[in-house]
Amino acid sequence: MNSSWIDLHCHSHFSDGFLSPTELLKRAASNGVEVLALTDHDSISGLEEARQASFDTGISLINGCEFSCRWNGLGVHILGLNFDLANENLNRFLVQQNLLRWDRARLINEKLHRKGLTGVLENVDLNSRQVPPSRPDLAAAMVRLGYVKDTAEAFKKYLGTGKVAEVPQVWPLIDTVVQVINEAGGGAVIAHPTRYKLSGTKLRSFMMEFKGLGGEAIEVVYSGQKQGEIGMLTDYAARAGLLASVGSDFHTPAYPWADLGRITSLPERASPIWLQWGYPNSRQIN
Ligand code: AMP
Ligand code: MN
Ligand code: MN
Ligand code: MN
Repeated sequence: MNSSWIDLHCHSHFSDGFLSPTELLKRAASNGVEVLALTDHDSISGLEEARQASFDTGISLINGCEFSCRWNGLGVHILGLNFDLANENLNRFLVQQNLLRWDRARLINEKLHRKGLTGVLENVDLNSRQVPPSRPDLAAAMVRLGYVKDTAEAFKKYLGTGKVAEVPQVWPLIDTVVQVINEAGGGAVIAHPTRYKLSGTKLRSFMMEFKGLGGEAIEVVYSGQKQGEIGMLTDYAARAGLLASVGSDFHTPAYPWADLGRITSLPERASPIWLQWGYPNSRQIN
């Protein structure tokens, strides 16, 4: 089993994750993680609790957030890392993202309704979480109503990229997101670059454009990667002048293939984003 001392991408119940920040930090510590970024979707609400838990567990916590945005008409995810939590512009922006998430849930619901899948939004169960509905919440409602057999089918038939009920156009442009992150003193990172189903050429031009906008890094190591992807992304990052990041994208203990810290190390030749924060290249060097 691969194990990493640093994990810069995970979710708590302040977005579509299953654990509270406290439970998450405890699990990270018992998995051997020493440096962790909590990166909830469009939310920094879990970071205060995570900060408290980081003192109890001895984990170094990096402020993080996974922003929903749009590049070339495509819904993409950009991580903001190590920004100032008190930045007013960032906080205002996230209030807006929250409202957009509600708007999007209603638009998705309308599209599903037109396809004969009625009452989905009304059946969303947020389990008393104080968050707007995410696509996994809508998928769970679709399963409960018997429209699909599982979440995977909900994404494959309706909610996934390019499917009938995907609504990426509500989200802000990537330009805005990178600017908000940078103004708050953070670094912008393209999350899971191979999940957008782009050709090699498109992916490389995405990275070049991102660098031009002020982007800092791409995720090179994450869960569920295919053979050869890590080496390829290491090379793409270098060519675009971008640094490398790593993250499990942990959501729930029920998905053991994406557990906290259970990720491969970066290749030696990669340039890790964390060197500038004072952490070593790899733990062994320390
Ligand atoms: P949202 O932030 O509301 O757009 O929801 C996106 C989230 O849905 C991702 O962060 C994943 O956690 C989850 N997701 C994306 N694709 C799938 C899929 N095919 N099956 C299950 N969950 C998915
Ligand atoms: Mn998610
Ligand atoms: Mn993502
Ligand atoms: Mn994520």
